[in-house]
Amino acid sequence: MTDILAGVASVSILETLVDAVLIVDEDHRIVWANGSCERLFGWRRDELVGRDMGVIAPLSATEQLDGFLAAFRPEMGGGRVLGVGRPLEAERKDGSRLPVEVGLAMFEEDGRRYVTGFIRDMSERLAAEEKLRHLATHDPLTGLANADPLVEAADRALTAGTTVSVVAVILAGLYHIGERHGRAAARHVLRTVSRRMGTMMTGDGPVARVDGAFFAVLTTDPAAETVAARLWTDVTSPIPWGAEDLRLVASVGVARADESFSSGEALMVAAYGAANDGLAHNRRGGVSVFTSELGRRLEHEAQVEERLRAAVAAGGLSLMMQAKVRATDGRILGAEALVRWTDDLLGPVPPSEFIPLAERTGIIPDLTAWVMHRSLAEAADWQRSGLDLRVAVNLSAVDLRQPHLIADVRAAIAASGCEPARVIVELTESAVAEDPDEAVTRLRALKDLGVSLSLDDFGTGYSSLSYLRRFPIDTLKIDRSFVTDTPHDPDAVAIARTIVALAHSLGMSTVAEGVENRAQAGFLRDLGVDVLQGYLYSRPVPPNQFRTLAMADAIDVRP
Ligand code: C2E
Ligand code: MG
Ligand code: MG
Repeated sequence: MTDILAGVASVSILETLVDAVLIVDEDHRIVWANGSCERLFGWRRDELVGRDMGVIAPLSATEQLDGFLAAFRPEMGGGRVLGVGRPLEAERKDGSRLPVEVGLAMFEEDGRRYVTGFIRDMSERLAAEEKLRHLATHDPLTGLANADPLVEAADRALTAGTTVSVVAVILAGLYHIGERHGRAAARHVLRTVSRRMGTMMTGDGPVARVDGAFFAVLTTDPAAETVAARLWTDVTSPIPWGAEDLRLVASVGVARADESFSSGEALMVAAYGAANDGLAHNRRGGVSVFTSELGRRLEHEAQVEERLRAAVAAGGLSLMMQAKVRATDGRILGAEALVRWTDDLLGPVPPSEFIPLAERTGIIPDLTAWVMHRSLAEAADWQRSGLDLRVAVNLSAVDLRQPHLIADVRAAIAASGCEPARVIVELTESAVAEDPDEAVTRLRALKDLGVSLSLDDFGTGYSSLSYLRRFPIDTLKIDRSFVTDTPHDPDAVAIARTIVALAHSLGMSTVAEGVENRAQAGFLRDLGVDVLQGYLYSRPVPPNQFRTLAMADAIDVRP
């Protein structure tokens, strides 16, 4: 054996190599093996020597060896490397497989040819590469894949024409949990929910964490809505956290593949469209199914959104002012600013359509900032003209959650030069009922700026009386629906009377909105309502028209 090795550089060098080194003769018989062979292949050296190289090498390697020998010309020297970039598979004694790269070199000894194989174990490198690949496509927190594998699977299903559906899951309450209970709680919730989804979807398509609080699954179940309903139940059931049970609000959307979808991506977007739409119409979430009709509506909304965004950016909105009068004598006390939008293509769009859209799409803070600036500039103008009038500005629930709200309002007051006491902020009852604890803090901060606070559409939302007591509210604004039905409807009358009594017992004043006739006005005044607002006195009108009205104090409608 050593005489064979005389042709190889040096035995001791071969022995020190981490790589396995084998010498094989022309008949594929192993004639020598270094120490690393034992570690790599699990054979003892003396077991290997004398055996056919087939015990560790697949057939293809044997063929490559023959090819190598056949093509070998001593004058060319050198060797050959196999398996680079695409490792070969060696076999261990226990039958398991090992990815390897192999370098071959040939030498001749006593007229026989031998090949030295340098065999490198590639398993660690492959594992590292796999880990990198996994990191690139998976979320380290939940271990879930990103959207890519799901979209690819949906693409394949669409091409093959198989029945699949994408079920999109939006976790709406996650941000809230993070704020309330800290980031560790939010992470725990994410992991728990991911695990639940993974368990439920075992055997079906991939579960993906698409982004933040957005998840999606692919299902081949023809009853995709049932799958969606089960997912919703799983995701929204309580998650224990310390002594508490955390609960998520979730909206789940289903989109079933059909010929109207040209790609897996489009299918996923549709599922999210349904989930988003469901959330927009039901704050508590639920399951929504994508239909072609919904598709058309979402397309329309996308167009409206785009045009609204442009209008807000370009100052393409306008303001109307609607007078508020003192109930006892009809004197003008101020006006409520109401925003208007007329689009070149869409025509006039009512606030009841574009305000909720602005809230859903994140446009509202810019819209509010514009309304605030315009309204306060107007009020400052009244002030300079010696008119004792107040302006009321509507804020949405989304505005109330903006971290920079207080700073914005302060800046708007400063920029306008309007006294803060002349500013009323109207917030709907539902906006403050959403998160009363947070609302109390925000409302106090607003009050500290010197503005008054009014609860709009009062009586339509749910507010807890104990919170109402804690809110620094100045005015309750009786919702139009009750005003409309007074004085003929006993229920509306009872509600209006209760609101007035409640307001007075809490030291708040009352405004009635939507007053359209004298019967309503007289009744409300007699009930003790302080301020009236409605078409009976004035429709919302352009600011200069309101100004003329106020200068002359020209409203002369005595109840
Ligand atoms: P709101 O704040 O309760 O405003 C009162 C709504 O009732 C206004 O509708 C007003 O035009 C209408 N109205 C007033 N008097 C009468 C009446 O006698 N009869 C009838 N039938 N309606 C009357 P508008 O302008 O369409 O606004 C609807 C809602 O849109 C507002 O309800 C408010 O929630 C929101 N909104 C309007 N402007 C803004 C704004 O600048 N910012 C925000 N966040 N919301 C706004
Ligand atoms: Mg209002
Ligand atoms: Mg209102």
